[in-house]
Amino acid sequence: MTTTCHGSCVCGAVAFRVDGPFTRFPYCHCSRCRKRTGSAHAANLFVPAAQFAWERGEELVRVFRLPTAPRWSNAFCTVCGSPMPWLARTGASVLIPAGALDDDPGLRPELNIHFASRAPWYAHAAELETFDELPPG
Ligand SMILES: [Zn+2]
Ligand SMILES: [Zn+2]
Repeated sequence: MTTTCHGSCVCGAVAFRVDGPFTRFPYCHCSRCRKRTGSAHAANLFVPAAQFAWERGEELVRVFRLPTAPRWSNAFCTVCGSPMPWLARTGASVLIPAGALDDDPGLRPELNIHFASRAPWYAHAAELETFDELPPG
């Protein structure tokens, strides 16, 4: 199945498109992804590099490469700070922060990785009291 998805940052200065099929879709609980996202885990969608293209604002995206972690990077819009896609150092694949997508990629997250590194305060979302919008009061 070929799915085309669009993605963008919060301020709208950066936009991209990505064509499926996607390679992998893990939640990553590693400490670097937790810091990169400011959240309990990242939702990392991977695609072959040829299936990804910037639509606007590529020059506004800054990529941070951590020398001690060759498989990890961080990319973000320098205007609004939203996490943005980055090309793996092998050049083979692009990591898409799934929260940046404006369309449904079809695929659902399929695994938790680096789960032993999860935050001590991590709780499964399904176990939480849930509201469609803000809770009353
Ligand atoms: Zn932005
Ligand atoms: Zn990670």
